[in-house]
Amino acid sequence: MLVSAKEMLTKAKAGKYAVGQFNINNLEWTKAILQTAQELASPVILGVSEGAGKYMCGFKTVVGMVNGMLDGLGITVDVALHLDHGTYEGALKCIEAGFSSVMFDGSHYPIAENVEKTKTLVKLCAEKGISLEAEVGSIGGEEDGVVGMGECADPEECKMIADLGVTMLAAGIGNIHGKYPENWPGLSFETLAAVSEKVGDLPLVLHGGTGIPADMIKKAISLGVSKINVNTECQLAFQAATRAYIEAGKDLQGKGYDPRKLLAPGTEAIKETVKEKMELFGSVGKNS
Ligand SMILES: [Zn+2]
Repeated sequence: MLVSAKEMLTKAKAGKYAVGQFNINNLEWTKAILQTAQELASPVILGVSEGAGKYMCGFKTVVGMVNGMLDGLGITVDVALHLDHGTYEGALKCIEAGFSSVMFDGSHYPIAENVEKTKTLVKLCAEKGISLEAEVGSIGGEEDGVVGMGECADPEECKMIADLGVTMLAAGIGNIHGKYPENWPGLSFETLAAVSEKVGDLPLVLHGGTGIPADMIKKAISLGVSKINVNTECQLAFQAATRAYIEAGKDLQGKGYDPRKLLAPGTEAIKETVKEKMELFGSVGKNS
């Protein structure tokens, strides 16, 4: 059964480790992440962007697939199914469809509007026992070919949103989505420490986990980050393994064209990436 992310993140914050959110795109992705979490006795959060939700034929399809897999694979570790960077309307749809966690990304709204919309969602999520992530200070990344360096959130605004009763908060600390540019200045631990002090026990979320050096990840966890989002890294691992399979001509040997064979190396590569991240985040064995 899917669970809210609240309990797993509260435990993570207290235990000074982080739970990984791994974004899913299809059946292979989901299976690889769930099997790895189970094997490592780690709690896990499956992230679904609105685009990925559309790709998988809607949020209801996603809920059906994930619930079916929890049963079919005998998954007993804590799993949250979470909307990643949701619009207000998207969050409502996911709550309705059976997600156990949603993110409302109101960072592009003026703070007053972000507060209003977040308030409504806090109430709805509380009624259904769903966890809610809010965002302050937009996370950088490639947009129209320009890579933004990542904003730093205003700790006062973070406090304002935290006080509304959200479960976890994504605060921009110079992190960005996708690959990090060569001249990236690194995470702003000064901002993170200031936000952490303002929001107390509230679990903080680090987006754009791909390519942040391990020592920075560890330091961020020590300063209150208890959820780390990983997306691009699984995509790159899948792509590299699939490319190697084709370039080695394996799809041309025997029944190498069988999609179950063709997609197997990529799926294994995702498992390997998820394992590395869970070890780095310290969530291994925390669900036994
Ligand atoms: Zn993000």
